[in-house]
Order: sequence, then C-alpha cells, then structure tokens
Amino acid sequence: MPLRVYNTLSRQKEAFETVLPGKVGMYVCGPTVYKPSHLGHMVGPVIFDTVKRYLKYAGYDVTLVINITDVDDKLIVQAKQQNTTVAELAERITADYRQNLEKLGVTGIDHMPRATEYIGDIIQMIQGLIDKGHAYAAGGDVYFDVTRDADYGKLCNRDPEQLEAGARIEVSDRKRNPGDFALWKGAKPGEPKWDSPWGPGRPGWHIECSAMSMRLLGKTLDIHGGGLDLQFPHHENELAQSESYTEVPFVRYWMHNGLMKTGNDKMSKSKGNEIVVAELLRKHAAETLRFFLLTTHYRRPIDYSEDRLDEVRRGLDGFYRFFDRYQRVTKNNFYELKAPASRGTFHPGVPETAFVVDVARLWTLFLEHMDDDFNTGGAIGILYELLTTLNRFADNRQLEGGAADASDLKAFERGVVALRELSQILGLFREPMVRASLAGVGKVTATATVMHNANRETGLAQLLTELGAEARLVHLLIDLGAEARLIELLIDMRAEARKEKNFARGDQIRQTLAKMGIVLEDRPGGTGWRME
Ligand SMILES: [Zn+2]
Repeated sequence: MPLRVYNTLSRQKEAFETVLPGKVGMYVCGPTVYKPSHLGHMVGPVIFDTVKRYLKYAGYDVTLVINITDVDDKLIVQAKQQNTTVAELAERITADYRQNLEKLGVTGIDHMPRATEYIGDIIQMIQGLIDKGHAYAAGGDVYFDVTRDADYGKLCNRDPEQLEAGARIEVSDRKRNPGDFALWKGAKPGEPKWDSPWGPGRPGWHIECSAMSMRLLGKTLDIHGGGLDLQFPHHENELAQSESYTEVPFVRYWMHNGLMKTGNDKMSKSKGNEIVVAELLRKHAAETLRFFLLTTHYRRPIDYSEDRLDEVRRGLDGFYRFFDRYQRVTKNNFYELKAPASRGTFHPGVPETAFVVDVARLWTLFLEHMDDDFNTGGAIGILYELLTTLNRFADNRQLEGGAADASDLKAFERGVVALRELSQILGLFREPMVRASLAGVGKVTATATVMHNANRETGLAQLLTELGAEARLVHLLIDLGAEARLIELLIDMRAEARKEKNFARGDQIRQTLAKMGIVLEDRPGGTGWRME
C-alpha cells in the first residue's frame, strides 16, 4: 500500500507525491524561546523526526527545518522581568530546547533557523507584498490586507468574518480591516529593532516562518507541520502571505499534531500546568518519554499523567527484558544488531516455518500502519505483538539453556532483526538507555525528587560499576541527569541479589546508599526510596 498522508487543507488522506521526485522538504514551527521547554513542545519534534525517519526508510532524501522564534512580545516581557536582554534569554532557552530534543532522540533536524538571522529575507518579502497590493504600511507598522486575498480562510475552511469572530484579534486603529495582521511592527522605546523602509521595528510572527521556509526549502514545501493550535491564525496567515507573494501553492501537505493535555486542559505556559522537560528527565528515561509520545496517533490529543508514563515504562521494560534474553540465547547484543535501514521486501533467509511467516506478516502490518498517515500508535501495537511472538518462540523451542536447535536459533535471529529494523524507524532502542527491570521485580516507586549532587552521582556510578553494571549505561544515565534511574537500577540489582540469596551483596547496596543519604524502604510490591 503506498503512503497516504492526511492533509488539513483537503481534510482527507491523500497519496504522497512530492514536488521533486525522491526529495522531501519539511518545515515545522518551533518554539518561541522565552521559557524552558515543557513536554508539549516535544510532541511536534518527536513526531516529525519519526516522519522523517520513515520517509528516509522509504527512500526519500529529506530535509527537516524547525525554526526558533527569538524575537517576540513574550520574549521582551520575560527578558525585562529577568533583568536580561532578549538575545541572552533566547540563547539560554534555545540551548535548553536543543538539549531536550537530543535526549529524546530528535536527531533529524537539518536546520534550526532563528528569525533574527533572516531579517533581510523578511523585509524583502514584506516589500514584495506591498508592491503587489497585498499589504500596506501604517504608522511604522505593515499589515497584510486579508480582503485582498480571495481564498483567505481556506486552511481552516471558514470565511474571514467567522475567523474574526472566533479568534483573538489584535486591536489597532491602524488596520483597515479587523482581520488584517502585522507583517512588521514599529519599535516601541527599548524594544529590539532593525532598520526597514517603514522605520525601525521587528517582524511579525507569521512572516518569519514564510521567509525562512522559503529560503531553506523553496517556494513549495512538501510538508508543513505544527501543533493543532497553530492552524489559526498562524498557518492560515503563513499560507495567505506566501501564496500572495509567490503565486504558487505554499504547501503540499499540512500536517497538524494533537496537543498535550493534562486532565481536560491543554498543556501550556500561560495555563501554568506545563511539565518542564528537564525536570521530567530527572525522574524518567528519555526513551520512556519518546515512546509515550508515539503511542498515540499524532492527530489525536495526548493525555499526560504519571500513571500513563508508568504504564509506558512497564511496556518498555518488556522489550528491555527481551534484549537481555536475546543476549543470553545468542551472546549477541541487541543494540549492536545490524538491520535494514531502507525499505525492501521481507527476505526470510531461513526456511519459511510458521514462525517466520508470522514475523513477515507482522513486519508487513507494521509498515501498513506507517503508510496509513504515520500511525505510530498502531505500529507500536504490532511491535508488542512481535515481542510476544518472539518470546513465545523462545519458550516453546527452549532456546535458553544451551540445547537449542541450530535452525531454531537462526529463525529466532531473523525475527529479532525484524524487531530491530522496525524499532529503528520509530527512533527507539538506539542506545541501551535503561534496563531497570534486571530482575523483573515489582514496581519500584520513586517519589523523591533528586537534587543534583556531583559527589553522590560519582558514588552511585562507582557502586554500579563495582556491581558489574554496563559502564556505558551508567555514563549515559549520568549524562541524562537521570540520577533517580541509577538508584532504581541499584534497587533492582539488590532485589536480584536477594532472590539469589546473596544477602551480603544486598546489604552492601543498602548500606552504601545509606551513606549517601538514600534510604531504601521495603514495601509490599517493591522497594521505594527517599532522600534522608
Ligand atoms: Zn510557524
């Protein structure tokens, strides 16, 4: 089945056809950098990074652009409050954003343009719109005239009056029509400003995206992505000004992702219910967050709760335990396994037993889900089925214990390669992130929030290394700032030691942790911990 993509503009799934054969230009609206990123900011990047991974797997040469809005009213207000400059604030928050993206495995961004680096392009485009009669200067500002654009409102499928009624319209007596929007804003005293033919000022928000996307990807983008809340006015305005300027279609496929919710509310800085990513990463592995964001279809809202994250983590633990099992059976490391990075037909390479046929069937189903408007949620469901199939095969054929049949082992290996191939498409299991459930013990509840402490971190790392934990894993967790995970890993190792009646080792772990001020509490159903 060929790839089909839901296009907001046509309100239906369409066959995917790019402007240039084999090439895809993708633009995604990034954040206004005035406060540390919350989890909602990661939704778009993780989804579109996965879209890029899948398109690359399908053989396309993909360029992904996510912009940074580094001059805006919110930045100006926040910088004043913090007694700093807009530039310094933007720099600091951009660094936080990039760090979070990297941790969540968003590695596919080719350009991250900042609005302030494209002022020349923006001015040129505004001048072009004025020359064509689509925009007018008024008292140091420049506005786009929505009444001069015959199909304004087509993205949201509403006429301009309806749009005005439903939206917060910036009031200004300089505007000719209430729905007109600012392309250029004259500077007020003390605000960042650039020279322009209309006097000193700064660009409006919408024009930035049109100018930057066009410069980096050409007049027609294959995919323009962003959160559902950007559909109006941001994307409607981007579309109107871009097409008025170039007179060619601006975007082939408009893709809008659902928003992060906590309870019934959208997660947002202005609502004050945002979950700051850097804080979340102190309690959860980055892979858990990525997996969580991909379990829902991207067009649906994502419900955030701690319970949901725990559930997702338990799901991932099933995969981690299987990777350990695979290593016990084959002596190979799942993370070093080579698997096809581009789409082909399924080559069994081994006799087509019922098991291999089943693996091939699931492989096909996974790709069918991805072809159906990047249904990562459906694809993850298939990944779980594949995991069950592999575990069942290992059970039935008694692959552990050294007496396994050679042809069974080969078939098993083929199945695991399929799991690797498919999970790579979702950007999962790139590194041995977390293997907390070494012993498969009950749920470990981490309630304490860990304040950063370099000495304790070193102590934890030393203890883990002494106990034989993979050094790479330990360092990775430290890099991630996931100290809570280090403690949980030690709790699991203690549980495993006790299960093996190695009480001396169990006590060693408890006592060493106690010296660092970490108290373990054995409870029914697992061991918890707290800071003294
Ligand atoms: Zn934008």
